[in-house]
Amino acid sequence: MQSQITTSYKVAVIGAGAAGLVAARELRREGHQVVVFERNSTIGGTWVYDTATESDPLGVDPSRTIVHTSLYDSLRTNLPREVMGFLDYPFLPKDVKQRDSRRFPGHREVLHYLEDFMSEFELTELIRFETQVIHVGLLKEEEQQVGKWLVRSRGKDRIVEDDEVYNAVVVCNGHYSVPRVAEIPGIGVWPGKQIHSHNYRVPDPFCKKVVVLIGSSASACDISRDIAKVAKEVHVASRSITSETPTKPVGYNNLWMHSMIKSAHDDGTLVFQDGSSVLVDVILHCTGYKYDFPFLETANIVTVDDNRVGPLYEHVFPPSLAPWLSFIGLPWKVVPFPLCELQSKWVAGILSGRISLPSQEEMMSNVEAFYAKLEAAGMPKRYTHNMASYQFEYDDWLAARCPCAPIEEWRKQMYAATSKNKVIQPETYRDEWEDHNWLLQAHKDFHQYMS
Ligand code: FAD
Repeated sequence: MQSQITTSYKVAVIGAGAAGLVAARELRREGHQVVVFERNSTIGGTWVYDTATESDPLGVDPSRTIVHTSLYDSLRTNLPREVMGFLDYPFLPKDVKQRDSRRFPGHREVLHYLEDFMSEFELTELIRFETQVIHVGLLKEEEQQVGKWLVRSRGKDRIVEDDEVYNAVVVCNGHYSVPRVAEIPGIGVWPGKQIHSHNYRVPDPFCKKVVVLIGSSASACDISRDIAKVAKEVHVASRSITSETPTKPVGYNNLWMHSMIKSAHDDGTLVFQDGSSVLVDVILHCTGYKYDFPFLETANIVTVDDNRVGPLYEHVFPPSLAPWLSFIGLPWKVVPFPLCELQSKWVAGILSGRISLPSQEEMMSNVEAFYAKLEAAGMPKRYTHNMASYQFEYDDWLAARCPCAPIEEWRKQMYAATSKNKVIQPETYRDEWEDHNWLLQAHKDFHQYMS
């Protein structure tokens, strides 16, 4: 599997969020020449909170002003920091007095951590800020063996475009910025306001309003509680709720949980599948996001179909373009930072020739077998990158290829304990926990990375 001769390539990384930063570090460690393109003026992607929202609150108008982040002001991480951090750079509070040292810190602490990561590994020099990639396309076919991509970018002034040639492109542009919106029968005549959680920041605009929030994700749970503090009524509609009557979570007198919305009407009411109906001011869609690669031109080799990015071998390489094109961080329902780190190590090692890939045909049949398995299980295409049930197996598979240590047992156990705690006490799981044994184990482990 491992070969000794290594090669250095010119690699373009698109995006300087968590994925792009760790990809840059791993690619450079492996000896490649790396340029990171970042359209924002700072690193951090999702973790750069912005009070601004998009011009279309629902996020469907293609000509809307774009805001990258989907963070809301009150957001605290939904993973304990020990689990969330990169494998060899623990997410520890640096300065307990100045920083947010909680185990589930607020979003600003995550941005500080990524800034620390950037400084520690001297990544700033690799990043071209305020430089948006607007086109990535293959050069002539005969040159493809060694990978030849045209990367066109646009700088700060938004006028001058720059064309450059790279051997490989690593896509790290994130997938929590382009809203997916729920389809509701009758919504065309419904007179109320609609907004996607991408454009939710603070609860104030919902003061004294009747709000229906659609979704069951971590964001839906947080935002419904945030809004319930000021709204007249909050009704959460979710596919995962099947009860025949609305239920109220303990501790709230203005929050109800419902089955999905059945229909919307021109008098402002929404009818739920549980038979109840409510006169509603605002619908808040917490219904997730679309994968989107507006800059990528692969003559349809890579497509996005119902949120399946494919065909991709192990969610990273399109077989016929491997290893010259790769995607970091596509899986969801995962612990993203360590997963991106392992994917990046794998990509970097494959590019240098230290790690081998199966043949194109083998990769393709692996992808087809995976799709057939999903279909046989009745899984919609949009769940292709949902790794809820096997993320750590996937991580360990990557680690074995690299090769490097598998995910620590304490991290797996702590993740499982947090997931359970979240269900049992959704209001307090961030401040009350019982995984002290695993916490001790984690801190013991972290010693090896502290100088
Ligand atoms: P991003 O952080 O989105 O970064 C992508 C970068 O690419 C951005 O900087 C963007 O400006 C840049 N970019 C995009 N297009 C271009 C282009 N054409 N040219 C140049 N640059 C470009 N994860 C956790 O681990 N714990 C949590 O508690 C957690 N909570 C979350 C809460 C919310 C509301 C959301 C939306 C996500 C949460 N996540 C959480 C997941 C989070 O997205 C990941 O932790 C991580 O930030 C993903 O990093 P990324 O680099 O893949 O994408």
